[in-house]
Amino acid sequence: MAILEILQIGNPVLRRRGVKITRFDNGLARLAEDMIETMHTASGVGLAAPQVGVSTRLIVVEMPDDGDYPHSGERWVVCNPEVVKESRETEVGQEGCLSVAGYVGMVERPTAVTIRGQDLTGHKMRVKADGFLARAFLHEMDHLNGVLYVDRAKEDTVMTIEQYEKLIQEVEDQDTSDDEPAGKSAILA
Ligand code: ZN
Repeated sequence: MAILEILQIGNPVLRRRGVKITRFDNGLARLAEDMIETMHTASGVGLAAPQVGVSTRLIVVEMPDDGDYPHSGERWVVCNPEVVKESRETEVGQEGCLSVAGYVGMVERPTAVTIRGQDLTGHKMRVKADGFLARAFLHEMDHLNGVLYVDRAKEDTVMTIEQYEKLIQEVEDQDTSDDEPAGKSAILA
């Protein structure tokens, strides 16, 4: 396994459409392993092949293993992912990207999606995702079409991670109710 370089916004590969995977060989499996290791090293919840300079339709998604998220610690590797169904209901939530280092923003996405694709051996697979997991899948799938979250972010919501965490802290300090905390630290994908 190897840790790969994560390309940053401005690199043209991030704006290219990924090519459909047709060969499910050892090279593909190795790329997936390297992407997983790279994602772990960068503390991300997902990574798409174009982010490591490979214009192909491969994504990995892994939920943080801290019990705060549904599917904690679960991981998906999906080739040629496509949205089959998405909810009409949407929500605005925080996103950050390993290819836009240091920033986060607020993006509106469907609250639930069904995704179909193939595993590393080419077998068909389907994933039903909602909430934060749906967001992570949609963020990664955007990368396969050359789209970055900053293209979709609500106007004036893109800020540095430091600004975001300060804002969250202020909201929590003001919140005297017993509700759940207003937010978590920045999440990157
Ligand atoms: Zn990203």
